[in-house]
Amino acid sequence: MIKVRVAPSPTGYLHVGNARAALVNYLFARSQNGHFLLRLDDTDTARGRPEYEQAIYDDLTWLGLSWDSSAKQSDRFARYAEVAEQLKATGRLYPCFENAEELAAKRAALEKRKLPPIYDRAALALTPAQIETALQNGHRPHWRFKLSPGEATWIDLILGAKRVKFATVSDPVLIREDNTPLYTFTSVVDDVDHQITHVIRGEDHVTNTAVQLDIFAALTNALPKFAHLPLISGGEGEKLSKRVGSASLRGMRKDGIEPAAITAYLARLGTSKDPAPIPLAELIKTFNIADFGRSSPRFDPHQLLALNRKFLHHLPYDSVKDRLPEAATEAFWNAIRGNLDLLTEARQWWDVVHNDISTPDQPDQKIFLEAALQTLPPEPWGAETWKTWTQTLAQATGAKGRALYHPLRLALTGEESGPEMAALLPLIGREKTAERLRRTAR
Ligand code: GLU
Repeated sequence: MIKVRVAPSPTGYLHVGNARAALVNYLFARSQNGHFLLRLDDTDTARGRPEYEQAIYDDLTWLGLSWDSSAKQSDRFARYAEVAEQLKATGRLYPCFENAEELAAKRAALEKRKLPPIYDRAALALTPAQIETALQNGHRPHWRFKLSPGEATWIDLILGAKRVKFATVSDPVLIREDNTPLYTFTSVVDDVDHQITHVIRGEDHVTNTAVQLDIFAALTNALPKFAHLPLISGGEGEKLSKRVGSASLRGMRKDGIEPAAITAYLARLGTSKDPAPIPLAELIKTFNIADFGRSSPRFDPHQLLALNRKFLHHLPYDSVKDRLPEAATEAFWNAIRGNLDLLTEARQWWDVVHNDISTPDQPDQKIFLEAALQTLPPEPWGAETWKTWTQTLAQATGAKGRALYHPLRLALTGEESGPEMAALLPLIGREKTAERLRRTAR
């Protein structure tokens, strides 16, 4: 049975990078009848916050992802202590007493000699008596994992054959002076205990994987497989574009982006397949982790908006009405939905049909707009009104094509382009139409 996990830390809101890791794990599990675990890496009690934890559940749910089980690292401190004791007993976890200044001095000395800043394992040479003395003197150790000689190798499901020499990395600190276990360690203990079969995460974890493979080997014979997603450039933290103001899921939601557009976009980002407006349930059917390439994709807000536009175009009124201006009707939604990049733009069209808007003066269209006012049909108005009106107006003035339609659109909406006028006109109504024509023709 395939079992994967996504393991966000509740230290901030989920951004597109987290969303992608969650989505790819989800699709991987769902496409193979596997199990998808949501694990909270919440051992950092200084930076973690309960509201971020709740936001993780909310944002993933909003995105459309469901998980089969969840776990919190903060529930498992006793288990981490137990495994740490095992590693101490076999000598793989050893106590170190260097303080931050001493470690910094060691690093500076190595850097001066143009050597990589790798821990010198001085603490491994401490005798039991020296350790005892240090403890007696009130020094509290941090604990490092003694890496094996040699190297870590694995066949990455995305990056291919990987090899990291252990001599190029420091023995990792797994337990701090204050006894808190660190991510490098807790993640492996969890992956072993939860019987995770595939670890799918960002490429920034490749060095962790090398080190963690050695820790896995000290604890179990059943190693998971690994897949590292090349990091998205332009999608972490910085402002994405003028219209998509934030790379956090929260921000995108507020900006009026549909969750389906995000999942459709992220599922294909970094693959050779073009982005397409495919719903999540369909993405499962065609998902293949081998589609991901080895190079870093660029987050392109325009592509995301183009997908969003396609999804909005087909959304029924019922699924958006709570997010439309109050009193907005189904006819209004059907009139505008084909013209929105973002749902938030609905507000602007609501003003066009329902409120006062400013429209530019058109002094050179005075005669034409007066004729438009004269030929305005009586109410009731419906789907045919625009056609009837503009035909009459064309006959009266001889105007056709752009000369006929453009001054009217500009006078009635204040915009150069937008939804079909035939649909907008009855929503604007005769009174506002007449008033705007009069004002513009003045
Ligand atoms: N908490 C880690 C992160 O968010 C988890 C990495 C992993 O998947 O092991 O980067």
